[in-house]
Amino acid sequence: MSLLDWYDRHGRDLPWRRTRDPYAVWVSEVMLQQTQVATVLPYYERWMARFPTAASLANADDETILAHWQGLGYYRRCRNLLEGVRQCVANGFPMGHDAWRAMPGVGDYTAAALASILDGEPTPVVDGNVERVYARVCADPSTGDTRRKAARAWAQKLISHERPGDWNQAIMELGATVCRPRQPKCPTCPLLSECRAHAEGRVHEFPTPKPRPETLNIDRCVGIYRRDNTIALTQAEEGDWWTGLWILPPATGPEYARVTTTVTRHRVTLIAVEPDEPPTNIMWIKREDLADIPIPAPFRKLLAKLGI
Ligand code: SF4
Repeated sequence: MSLLDWYDRHGRDLPWRRTRDPYAVWVSEVMLQQTQVATVLPYYERWMARFPTAASLANADDETILAHWQGLGYYRRCRNLLEGVRQCVANGFPMGHDAWRAMPGVGDYTAAALASILDGEPTPVVDGNVERVYARVCADPSTGDTRRKAARAWAQKLISHERPGDWNQAIMELGATVCRPRQPKCPTCPLLSECRAHAEGRVHEFPTPKPRPETLNIDRCVGIYRRDNTIALTQAEEGDWWTGLWILPPATGPEYARVTTTVTRHRVTLIAVEPDEPPTNIMWIKREDLADIPIPAPFRKLLAKLGI
């Protein structure tokens, strides 16, 4: 069975697939950016009932429009859509990838989807689903940009010139429903006979997971300078990891305490040392005022450990 035959039989019947109205398809594509189909469906239905045409949206007031977007999040998407639709009501809808790409908030991915669905342009859409299908069919172990480029070239070669929009939707749908990240349903897959990973029994090896980024260690020796009820802090300089925040001043001397904090992929170790003379660019801060000053978490942790 070809991919398009499979799609004709098994593709989900979604409301935006029943229309060729550029406005309606555009709305669906914008709503689907970063949001699952099941979540989008009721929003899309409500939206199209309230703003059935581009003109009805263009003429509505912004507050009513934003209220209908409420719950989908990423309001920037809504504002861009509105601005774009207003432009189209005045000047007509774009044609082709490059013209769509020039609309507010339309990136390469959305432009390719819209140009293929609405204008019959054979430009492939490559998302994570398509990349996964590609990596498995071709047993390609690459990752990152290399894989994305290879997936695009592969899709460009295969895309149907008669039904490019359906082909794009078919390959994404295949990735979402059959060639799923876990437990792909290979026996029902239209690409089974050409899938190398399946033939070699290595489906679970693809796509190759991203290598874990290395942990970076940041070690810093800091001085604990105390005077009466105050402690010396300095403002981190431009270019410092903590630019603009208040930190313990760098110092040298014998170590007497240390704390380690992990921040994303950084492991920050602060080593408190027995200080000599305090540096000049410091401020003496009262202990009771420390809570109100922007001090990075690792420094707070060290101060807490020292009972300050
Ligand atoms: S045969 Fe299996 S692994 Fe290969 S493309 Fe189809 S679902 Fe994915």
